[in-house]
Amino acid sequence: MTTPPLTLNNDVVMPALGLGVFQTPPDETRAAVAAALETGYRHIDTAAAYGNERQVGEAIAAASIDRSDVFIETKIWISDYGYEQTLHGFDKSARKLGVEQIDLLILHQALPSEFGKTLEAYRALETLLADGRVRAIGVSNFMVEHLTRLLDAATVVPAVNQIEVHPYFQQREVQDFGAEHGILTQAWAPIGGITFYRDSGHTSTLQDPTIGEIAVAHGKTPAQVMLRWHLQQGRSAIPKSVRPQRIAENFDVFDFELTGEELAAIDGLDTGKRGGPEPADITLAAFGRPIPEK
Ligand code: NDP
Repeated sequence: MTTPPLTLNNDVVMPALGLGVFQTPPDETRAAVAAALETGYRHIDTAAAYGNERQVGEAIAAASIDRSDVFIETKIWISDYGYEQTLHGFDKSARKLGVEQIDLLILHQALPSEFGKTLEAYRALETLLADGRVRAIGVSNFMVEHLTRLLDAATVVPAVNQIEVHPYFQQREVQDFGAEHGILTQAWAPIGGITFYRDSGHTSTLQDPTIGEIAVAHGKTPAQVMLRWHLQQGRSAIPKSVRPQRIAENFDVFDFELTGEELAAIDGLDTGKRGGPEPADITLAAFGRPIPEK
């Protein structure tokens, strides 16, 4: 089984579906990535801040797969923003991953109160792109306001904006702005890894009755329905699991199609309530922490 390719705005091809490894403990990362590669995944999303780039790199190196057949995405943490600091951030990530070139390097967050630093970090990504050290560059958790300010200053339009998108929080305004400017939306927490309080009951997208009904109609699971919803709407998605069975389940989504009505029903579940941190509140004081050299 192979994942459908998405062509980025600089013609680099990225597998639409990847494995995410946020909160995957370092000692479980190698096995999770190995299971994903065995299943057929060819795209892994990690980050300097996750503390498991080394194990991601080890699993890829240990698999009998050409390096060029695996798409490696990682993120520069805010503590490494600034032109020189971000160049050094790349060196740290590349060293830990054990690679010369990173396929997609993105800024993990905007720093709204120090946007100049964010722009300097992005300028370093542009240099890395021009030097061929990365194949594509992008951002994460950028809202319309941040994208607008970035586009005003940047010479390279980000290829990707990785943001929280799942049925309960869809960020259509950010998605639409990205689409208008050739910025692909990549969904983090694509199956609602973030749990919500909806109405009075404690629930998660995985227990949503609408998604459950659609899943039953297709003989699929709620996670598979949500991933299909992303793929059919043109988004990249990077579900996380440490369990081989779920890693396989999340990849078994290429043999069914949701109807327009089903897609619309899932669109209708948006609560407008964010599960993750508010991007406007990201500051070095609150979220900064050093990224180790090794
Ligand atoms: P997900 O929506 O991928 O959900 C992951 C959670 O769901 C885990 O608890 C996992 O548990 C469980 N799970 C996985 N598959 C299934 C399944 N088929 N059925 C039931 N439960 C399942 O949320 P994440 O927050 O992990 O987001 C995915 C990825 O997005 C991250 O790993 C990371 O790469 C990226 N991310 C980026 C952020 C950013 O700021 N840029 C922020 C957050 C995430 P288990 O492992 O036990 O199976």
